Amino acid sequence: MQNRLIPNIWYERLWQIPVNDLVDIGIKGVIVDLDNTLVPWKKDPSYATIETREWLKRLESAGIDVCIVSNGGSSRVQSFAAELGIKAVAGVPKPRRTPFRKAMSLMGTSPTETAVVGDQLFTDILGGNRSGCYTVLVTPHDEKEFFYTKIVRILERRIKKRLQSKGQFPERKGKKA
Ligand SMILES: [Mg+2]
Repeated sequence: MQNRLIPNIWYERLWQIPVNDLVDIGIKGVIVDLDNTLVPWKKDPSYATIETREWLKRLESAGIDVCIVSNGGSSRVQSFAAELGIKAVAGVPKPRRTPFRKAMSLMGTSPTETAVVGDQLFTDILGGNRSGCYTVLVTPHDEKEFFYTKIVRILERRIKKRLQSKGQFPERKGKKA
């Protein structure tokens, strides 16, 4: 179980993930988390920064499809899809494999062609690893989140620390935004 909480790489922000690196390892589809990954928690699409929008454009130019997979409310998730011109799946919670499979089927990608980007080990990274995808951890945007998530963060930090002390956790790349 613990190994499934280890991401392949860790970047400070979504838009700092080099698109060329994804192309080099054969990625054709990217599944992105919404809250605290694409935008700060509970914010609307207007909070997607210019850097984020340009990163999405670079993915598109590289022929990489993008799909949001979020545990958030369906209508809010769909509003992001419409505003940013990307696909979206909501309604079945991560880390269940169903929403990841759905996203891959929408993008027409296999697990080895798919990267999963998110800020939580127990939902995004666990679900992505269980689905056989390449996993990318990002640092959450801010401290504001569900009460439940705050508790999970304590456990996350402990596990991260233990794995880091054993040299099993990737180094964080990208500068603080
Ligand atoms: Mg999140």
